[in-house]
Amino acid sequence: MGTPAIFQDQIKPRPCPCGKADWDVMNRISRGHLIKTVLFFLPLKRYKCSNCRKKVLIFDND
Ligand SMILES: [Zn+2]
Repeated sequence: MGTPAIFQDQIKPRPCPCGKADWDVMNRISRGHLIKTVLFFLPLKRYKCSNCRKKVLIFDND
């Protein structure tokens, strides 16, 4: 029944496509208008990578 805790821990992928960033260099930012209005039903979070300065959307089911 349910998802094993171990699996939950392994879900977290590399946060940024640059591959050099870890979660501690990802800064949570506002999701922006488009996502709030169009994709509001999705558990998306937006982060900015301090390493490459890209903004990435991350799926978060928490
Ligand atoms: Zn990056």
